[in-house]
Amino acid sequence: MSLSLIAKSIKPSPTLALNEKFAILKEKGDPVIHLGGGEPKTKVPMEAIMATVSHVNTGEVRYAPADGIPALKQAIIRYTEEFYNRKVTPQHIIASGGAKQALMVALQAILNPQEEVIFPAPYWVSYPDMARLIGAIPVPALPEDGTFYPRLKDIEDRVGSYTKAVIINSPNNPTGAMYSEEFIADVVDFCEKKDIWLIMDDIYHRLIFDGRKPINAFKYAKKKDENSKMIIINGVSKQYAMTGFRIGWAVGNKKVIEAMSNIQGHQTSGPSVLLQKAAVGALNGIQSSVESLRVTLENNRNVMIDLLKSFEGVKVNKPDGTFYCFADFSVYNKSSNALSAFLIDKVQVLTVPGAEFGLEGYLRLSYCGTIKDIQDGIERMKWALDPNSPNELYIGDRKLVRDWS
Ligand code: PMP
Repeated sequence: MSLSLIAKSIKPSPTLALNEKFAILKEKGDPVIHLGGGEPKTKVPMEAIMATVSHVNTGEVRYAPADGIPALKQAIIRYTEEFYNRKVTPQHIIASGGAKQALMVALQAILNPQEEVIFPAPYWVSYPDMARLIGAIPVPALPEDGTFYPRLKDIEDRVGSYTKAVIINSPNNPTGAMYSEEFIADVVDFCEKKDIWLIMDDIYHRLIFDGRKPINAFKYAKKKDENSKMIIINGVSKQYAMTGFRIGWAVGNKKVIEAMSNIQGHQTSGPSVLLQKAAVGALNGIQSSVESLRVTLENNRNVMIDLLKSFEGVKVNKPDGTFYCFADFSVYNKSSNALSAFLIDKVQVLTVPGAEFGLEGYLRLSYCGTIKDIQDGIERMKWALDPNSPNELYIGDRKLVRDWS
């Protein structure tokens, strides 16, 4: 079939495919455990629900400005002041269909075909394909020292005449690593000196542990006016458990935001007004749900890390934030895709293969579910992988028997 070259170069999103697999197995009544998920299970804030319902009840749900409704922009202005100590106007903001679309239109606004975008590895699964979608070249930067904490040199070494942008995601999906203030300051300074765009993907910036405080990259910028090439991406998906509402945003200079708005106007005419109203409700409402989610995640992380530490041969770092941990399972199988498929097949535990994030031998395990899911999921994995396990395992009234060694 004569599909475009770009279409042929794009893989399906592995995390979305996993969600689909989970839904199918669940529907069949299989006792599947999803340790591959990317969304909190807590309830959406009540204010978000009320705002959506009251708008839908008017019976008039219409087109809205392609770059976001004024009320949402006002809420984002306040958010930007609170977390970035930065005073912006509505022209510095675009609201999009999730942080994903905000990122996508940002890349479309700044990258030409063949230009390069650098991001630390392991990286969020969508960055390489987003770059490919516009004919640009993704350039992952795996830290040379073998940690999940890049140094400036890891970025610097990959900069060339085609480099147009750097994306930093901290805390990071999939590792949970939160980069140091020094590293962020260095990257901001470096990008300014090289005149490169810097995209800060801050989608997890409040979901951090052990007393850490969100880092504000803008604090280190010397260019704070319309010459700033920093774009900050954020959204309601993770912090307010509103993944299904699909609202994210970008803050940047007026020219880039205008370009992004033009692009988005032609792509989707902007996100649904109903969902924007919900985001306004969440951003302006009582904020206790964010802290209670954060505390739950920190506790879940501790449980998961303790269980993984008792897992012979598995190497794991304690995540600083997010709801993921990225563990080295290479002693069991060098191919993370094969290992992940084995775990689904034998014990119905879903994990995401490290290869999808640019690092083989690892699995991404999520701790955004229940403690029971974490405990049962890791117990099943141990049973499947440890050759000294008993021959049988009961899941409810189902008996699993090892037919592998
Ligand atoms: N950036 C990162 C690092 C993410 O993990 C995700 C969601 N998995 C997004 C962006 C996209 O968020 P949203 O659901 O708001 O589009």
